Order: sequence, then structure tokens, then C-alpha cells
Amino acid sequence: MIGYLWKNICTADYIQDGSLKSYKNKYKMVIFLVNLDDPVIKGYLINLVGEEGFKVVANMPEGEVTDEKIAQATGVLLNIVRRTLFILYENRLAIYRRERDTDSGWLTYLWQLDLSNLNNQLELESKKLLKNLKTKLEFENDKIFYVCEKQDGRFLFETAAELEFKCPICGGELKYQENEPVIKALKQRINQLEETISSASV
Ligand SMILES: [Zn+2]
Repeated sequence: MIGYLWKNICTADYIQDGSLKSYKNKYKMVIFLVNLDDPVIKGYLINLVGEEGFKVVANMPEGEVTDEKIAQATGVLLNIVRRTLFILYENRLAIYRRERDTDSGWLTYLWQLDLSNLNNQLELESKKLLKNLKTKLEFENDKIFYVCEKQDGRFLFETAAELEFKCPICGGELKYQENEPVIKALKQRINQLEETISSASV
């Protein structure tokens, strides 16, 4: 599944028949393709707009369209389409243009996906996650942990000492936990993420 990204390549104005015209929305080209099957991209979008919202993104008609037309084309309920468009807009992944109907005077909103910002958003998310993982790693390196044998909880040494090394839930003994496996897993995840981020920004 491929989402096409359209972008105006020429927005310069020109004069025709004595009046000012615009190339805007006339000339378009595909600037790059987003693979919506990519688990990272798909996961990010589903997390953002939900499964139904993802259907909207995946089946969005080309060019500028009204929310009603999107609902028809995607088979997604109109209120979900509207919610999805709003979230996409907030995350700079969709744009709209207002057009006033010359007869009725009603304003029409014409929507278009603009996923060109998607990679930036993903990179920001990854960096946030990386920061969290590094904080966790620091915490794991600095602290000593005790656990209940029945997996009721994991406690810092200070807390376990206050509890006299007795589990507050089952009353069983709290035992020292070797947290090297946790540290190893965190380091691995951090390395993977750093690789992804550095390859993405090339
Ligand atoms: Zn316990």
C-alpha cells in the first residue's frame, strides 16, 4: 500500500487575459512515496488516528476533497473522517483550503493529505523515545532493586529496606534482583534506535 504525496511545484502567479491567475493547485507532482505497510509508519499513524482513521489515510482520494467525499470513498463514518482530518492537521500531516460557494455563500473545506512531514514527526517521536530509554538506563545503572518472588512488585533498595524486605502484598521475602538483563535489553534498544535515527537523517 503506497500513499502518494502531492505537492504544488509551482505557485507563481501569471497574467492571462489581463487578469492575475495562479498556477496553484494546477501543477502537481509526486514528491516521494510513503509506504503505509511499513510497520513503524503504520504503527505511528494508528496510534495517532486509530484503525478507522488509518483507513482514511490509506484510502484518501487524490487531490483536494471534501470530508463528505472522503467518507464516501473510504467507507468511514463522517464524524470519524472529520476527527481524523483534524488530528492530521494538528500534526501537520494534512492541509485544507476554504472555498466559498458563489451561489449559496457556504464555505467548503477542501482537504488534502500532506505526509511530507511524516518523517520529521517519526524522527521527533524516536528522539523522545530515545531520551526516555536513556533516562531509564541511567536509573537502572544507579539503583539496586528487590523483587517479590511471586512477581507482585519490584522495589528500590531503600523501599525494600523500609518494608523490612517483606512483600507488602503477599508478605513473602523480597530478594535482590540482578538487573543486568534489563540493562542489556535497554542498551540494545537504544543502539537500534540510534541506528534508525542516524540512517533516517542521511
Ligand atoms: Zn509478593
